[in-house]
Amino acid sequence: MSQNPFSSFIDLISLDQEIRTTFEAITLLKKEAESRLSEKQKLESRFEQFKHHVRDLKKGVHEKELEIKELDETEKRKKLQLDQLQNPKEYQPLKKEIDRLKQEQHNAEAELMGIWNKLEVAQKELAEQNSNYSSKIEELNAALADQQEKISQLQSDLERKKNERPAKESGIPQEWLDKYTHMRMRVEDPVVEVLDASCSACYYTIADQELIRLRRRAIVQCKGCFRLLYMPAAMKDVAPVENPETSNE
Ligand SMILES: [Zn+2]
Repeated sequence: MSQNPFSSFIDLISLDQEIRTTFEAITLLKKEAESRLSEKQKLESRFEQFKHHVRDLKKGVHEKELEIKELDETEKRKKLQLDQLQNPKEYQPLKKEIDRLKQEQHNAEAELMGIWNKLEVAQKELAEQNSNYSSKIEELNAALADQQEKISQLQSDLERKKNERPAKESGIPQEWLDKYTHMRMRVEDPVVEVLDASCSACYYTIADQELIRLRRRAIVQCKGCFRLLYMPAAMKDVAPVENPETSNE
């Protein structure tokens, strides 16, 4: 199969553009997946923190209840002492002690109520958050799985395209390939058309002598931007070119 080397060249360039596009798509998907993953981690840690908060409140309730129970027992013991008191001098201090215990119990009960209220609110909120949380996590997991699948597809696509490349290079003059390889590291569109005797990328005016060569299907390097230039009208010719002329730069 003898194909016009220029059309082989254009084929190679479009393959490279596809490779670039695929690679960029993979990079973008990976970035998106990363941000989804970090969103998921944030949600998980916030939810964990909230559960922890509820556990702390429950613990607080339990501790307060124990404290109240202990105060109550001490008070009972002191009252018993008061009833069995022998020395009247001890009455007043003991009575004072009992009053203090009563006050402490009263305070502890008020604190308990406060913690209870907080716990109730927090538990209600946790239940609400729980349903939101589960659906949000499910949504993120589904999106992550979807992205992963797309990434794998694109990656095998990319591999396939890369494997096609060596065959696409055959029949293209080495000089074109060398210049192209050099340029494609720097710009996205290393090969551009000549438009009104100028480079269509940087509008540099092309010298008459080079226009003549371009008309003879040479690939010429732009003096302005160093992209490779071709003349579309000249390249339209479908007949295979035996010895394509190349620029001598
Ligand atoms: Zn240019």
